[in-house]
Amino acid sequence: MTERLYYEDAYLWEFRGTVTACRPGKKQGEWLIALDRSAFYPTSGGQPYDTGTLTANGAEARVTDVEADTAGEVWHTADREIPAGTEVAGKIDGERRTDHMEQHGGEHMLAGAIWEKLGGTTIGLHLGQEDSSIDVTLPEGRTKLTEEEIALLEDTVNRRIRQDAPIRCWFPAPEELEKLPLRKAPTVTEHVRVVAMGDFEMVACGGTHPSSTGRIGLVKIVSVIPAKGKARVSFVCGGRACRLFSRYMRSADKAGAALSCPVDKLSRAATELKTRLSDAEKKVNRFETREILERIAEAETREDLKGVTLAAVTLPEMNPRAVAEAVSEYIAGKGRLLLLSSGERLTFARSADVPADMGVLIRRVGRGGGRPDMASGAGIPECVGVARKILMTEGLQ
Ligand SMILES: [Zn+2]
Repeated sequence: MTERLYYEDAYLWEFRGTVTACRPGKKQGEWLIALDRSAFYPTSGGQPYDTGTLTANGAEARVTDVEADTAGEVWHTADREIPAGTEVAGKIDGERRTDHMEQHGGEHMLAGAIWEKLGGTTIGLHLGQEDSSIDVTLPEGRTKLTEEEIALLEDTVNRRIRQDAPIRCWFPAPEELEKLPLRKAPTVTEHVRVVAMGDFEMVACGGTHPSSTGRIGLVKIVSVIPAKGKARVSFVCGGRACRLFSRYMRSADKAGAALSCPVDKLSRAATELKTRLSDAEKKVNRFETREILERIAEAETREDLKGVTLAAVTLPEMNPRAVAEAVSEYIAGKGRLLLLSSGERLTFARSADVPADMGVLIRRVGRGGGRPDMASGAGIPECVGVARKILMTEGLQ
């Protein structure tokens, strides 16, 4: 069984060990290496593996994955064979591990606060590339949190982070373990390792943690969504939270400059702008609708179609909403048949009292379909003339 050096010191980036086994990995050129002692963290409890290097006799092997088997042996996936018995110098990517410890430590603080303030129990940490998430079972089966609850959790956690309380990890004797006020029962029965963060959070955990709450930096909840009867809380911590804040600030500053308002008035300015835009769009729409109706009126002819007024109109490409409104308004009158093109979009429509099938007619001249009283499709403007000719030759059906 590999001696896990990160249990004692989670900031140990460099160490020495001896290869106890080396065998080919699943992929060509990949080797699985076991050491007598290692500071590399193997994927477990939602925290991803460490990466880094193993150097032996001047040759460096890159470690691209780390896993522990059921016997407790830690296997390092490397791109070079290192025979058993060789002494190696291990080096861990400290930046990657620090990031993982910030997210993992923040998760503990958040889960502790969710339990204490809302009576929610937490399962399954997922530490992702962008943000991390936990699934929370809340009392009464709730699957969402209010804005006030989110603010309470963030405020509680970040105040505790600023207190910079020590984080302690140890293996208590069974009689001590029994008496400890753990947030939830351990999932293992032997070699239970406990993490205590100040007096805010105490739970069984085999992961790596910062040495004090202050080193978590900052916790920010980014979303809470319902997921399979639970509330899925997504969050970022430490460096990720700082980078997210910078990104949001830059974006908010640009939006503020564009709308000529301070950042904290952005929401109101955006709502006002949206309302004004919607009003303006309605006005423009109405104007265009009227213009189309005028063009239809100019094109109206009373040809030998049993008293039906026929309007065949070709328009340049116009706002489809204005076209639709003008068409509806026009055929609301009696005895009207309209053949209209706007760009390459065709609309054939008729009043309810006109006996003709527009769907059939549009399919004879272009592509499309629809109801007997209104059909639309695609076709060149000349399709309107062809449809008119069909009606004049064959009459209404
Ligand atoms: Zn932990």
